[in-house]
Amino acid sequence: MKGIKQPTEEFSRVPAGLRIDRPPFPKSAKLEVTSRCDLNCFFCQHTYDTQKSGDIEPALLSRLLRELRELGVEDLGLFWIGEPLLNGALNEHIAEAKALSFPYVFITTNGRLATEECLEPLFEAGLDSIKFSFNADDAESYRPRYAGSTVSTKPWKISDVPGY
Ligand code: SF4
Repeated sequence: MKGIKQPTEEFSRVPAGLRIDRPPFPKSAKLEVTSRCDLNCFFCQHTYDTQKSGDIEPALLSRLLRELRELGVEDLGLFWIGEPLLNGALNEHIAEAKALSFPYVFITTNGRLATEECLEPLFEAGLDSIKFSFNADDAESYRPRYAGSTVSTKPWKISDVPGY
């Protein structure tokens, strides 16, 4: 007869070597540099959050960056729920992370502020990757999902991204 844990173990994708009391610290982490956003997407926690939004304290970010690097983190996302391009110190945060030798620093953005003037300093600071988040097939489905946005007046083009 199967024990109560057996089905879980059979279907778990966690390698056996990691199912220990103190598994190794993750190689990947994300730090939310701002909880502010310029949109109110219906599917997002940000839209329903009643707490005050704001940017991370630079001193706290510095401490977290140091500690995460010492713990062996390699892939660092400088965003979580908010829109990272709203943080005016983002290029400084990226430069600080690269100075601590994080091999891969990336962001995900809704893209509304992604002009060439905005993106160029981020890549100069050492940004390795940027991802654009769209959860719609076309303008018709984009507008109601991304409340507060418009498609036709989006100020950026993919060719604004350095290297394209
Ligand atoms: S753009 Fe991103 S962070 Fe902002 S409300 Fe939409 S899903 Fe949330």
